[in-house]
Amino acid sequence: MASRLDSLVHQRYMELDTSGSVMVTYIWIDGTNGLRSKTRTLKSYPTSPEQLPVWNFDGSSTAQSLGHDSDIYIRPQSIFKDPFVPGNNCLVMCDTYDKDDKPHPTNYRYSCYESMKKVDAQHPWFGIEQEYTLLDLDGYPFGWPKGGFPGAQGPYYCSVGSNRVFGRQIVEAHYKACLYAGIDVSGTNAEVMPGQWEYQVGPTEGIAMGDQLWVSRYILDRVCEDFGVIACLDPKPMPGEWNGAGAHCNYSTLAMREEGGIKVINQAIEKLSKEHHRHIKLYDPTGGEDNKRRLTGRHETGHIDRFNSGVAHRGASIRIPRQINKDGKGYLEDRRPSSNCDPYLVTEALVRSTCLDWENFDMERFTPKN
Ligand code: ADP
Ligand code: MN
Ligand code: MN
Ligand code: MN
Repeated sequence: MASRLDSLVHQRYMELDTSGSVMVTYIWIDGTNGLRSKTRTLKSYPTSPEQLPVWNFDGSSTAQSLGHDSDIYIRPQSIFKDPFVPGNNCLVMCDTYDKDDKPHPTNYRYSCYESMKKVDAQHPWFGIEQEYTLLDLDGYPFGWPKGGFPGAQGPYYCSVGSNRVFGRQIVEAHYKACLYAGIDVSGTNAEVMPGQWEYQVGPTEGIAMGDQLWVSRYILDRVCEDFGVIACLDPKPMPGEWNGAGAHCNYSTLAMREEGGIKVINQAIEKLSKEHHRHIKLYDPTGGEDNKRRLTGRHETGHIDRFNSGVAHRGASIRIPRQINKDGKGYLEDRRPSSNCDPYLVTEALVRSTCLDWENFDMERFTPKN
């Protein structure tokens, strides 16, 4: 008999009463900027990450270590309700440590957390707009005529109708699942390229931005499994006259949000202008190579080699939203991060450049090797 997957049959098992056991899914970031997870059973629902045991995995299978010395520890850092398995289950975002309990070189959360602690009193808030492209299992954009192209961009952004919008069910399922999990999703919209979507997470304070965005990506991948599609985070999945995908990072400190905050916003932009190339190296997983395809100065982007800023300017590196300029306080929008950025690196870069300095931060790791 041919094998088959049947969601109705699956549902029957999902309804079995397993109260008394909690399925805890540990999520971590691998050596390729991807997500991995595995699940274990505990007897009670954790109320803080410290209650969860440190666990480990085989780093030689995740591009994080060599086979002969492969154990990597994962340390639970934040807890979310599991939207996939009915009952009292959870997802936990972890970070990675080597055998001497030192943060693994691919653990960007650790340093981000250290920086966030230093600026705690300034209450840094972030809101990331995660753009992504839905692909069919064959890797071609979802909803596009096979081997061909849909009509030119224009009618798709924020649109409605079967000839314009592709995959709304997936987007809605993901939105609900994130809210259920406890992620501060603030909204969603269809994007400029057909099959491309955006959701926003935030405003979220400090380290929570990175934790929430990574778990929202995990949930997106899981929802897409259910629908037989792929969520692609490549910043320019289709070359040519098609918009790329970014992860604009909206950022404010308490002083920016208070009366007269626009002065502090402009000071921050001045500081950011001096660190442009450093930020570019940190804003995608290839040290800027990925973003080169996207930040062309066209298709609503600034040019990768130049820093510029402006009110309501969508061709800028940093935009001050029109309303913020009018109010004289609020936040700035960094439009440079790529859709596949690591939000721990992006948020740490913003606070280091505007509130701290770059002491004890090894940039070597992020310089592309030719
Ligand atoms: P855009 O106009 O660029 O499409 P969106 O509405 O998609 O903007 O996203 C705006 C983001 O800014 C949201 O994630 C929101 O949570 C975030 N945000 C709002 N206020 C602040 C603030 N004071 N500091 C940081 N982020 C904020
Ligand atoms: Mn947006
Ligand atoms: Mn957008
Ligand atoms: Mn934006």
